[in-house]
Amino acid sequence: MSKKRGKIIILVSPSGGGKSTMKKRLLEDFEQIHFSVSATTREPREGESDGTDYYFLSRDEFREKVRKGEFLEWEEFYNGTMYGTLRSVVENDLNKGYFILLDIDVLGAKNVKQMYGSDALAIFLSPPSIDVLKERLAARGTEDPYSLRTRLKRAEKEMAYSDQFDTKIINDDLEEAYSKVRETVSTFINS
Ligand code: 5GP
Repeated sequence: MSKKRGKIIILVSPSGGGKSTMKKRLLEDFEQIHFSVSATTREPREGESDGTDYYFLSRDEFREKVRKGEFLEWEEFYNGTMYGTLRSVVENDLNKGYFILLDIDVLGAKNVKQMYGSDALAIFLSPPSIDVLKERLAARGTEDPYSLRTRLKRAEKEMAYSDQFDTKIINDDLEEAYSKVRETVSTFINS
């Protein structure tokens, strides 16, 4: 990679808004993009592995990292589950010239955007409506009824922030939405 410092790309959307598909495709299409693996205290879902999807930590381990200032940003939500972006993961890759992809929630995205300014591109991926989001989350089948309810409640709040990021892309048709994401990212990388 070049010696030029990299930049940050943030995919923001409510849970079920389509981030994971976009993330996967961006990583396939752009070799200069690396995914920033976050830390979390939630249990791994089927098929998820430690160090690839998340660093799965106990609450004590997570708190210790908070205490040591190892997070760029972190939050506690969904009934006490903690999520955080590791400073070392992001900074190491930025210094190597990579573009770092963050899959984080609305507040985390606002914080990172504030820290990095024009060195960060924040794309809000919006589901066409709350009803569609509800259907997608239910169809995914990964959440129990309690988690589904809390995620939906949070999603409704998060949708209110949709106009506060650099770009908003409505994820109605996946191919169409992805081609807009790809174009936006490509312009940012080459700017
Ligand atoms: P999930 O449990 O579905 O993997 O993620 C739930 C939410 O946490 C998603 O909106 C995801 O983007 C967000 N998230 C994942 N990692 C982080 C992080 O490091 N920081 C913040 N603020 N949110 C995160």
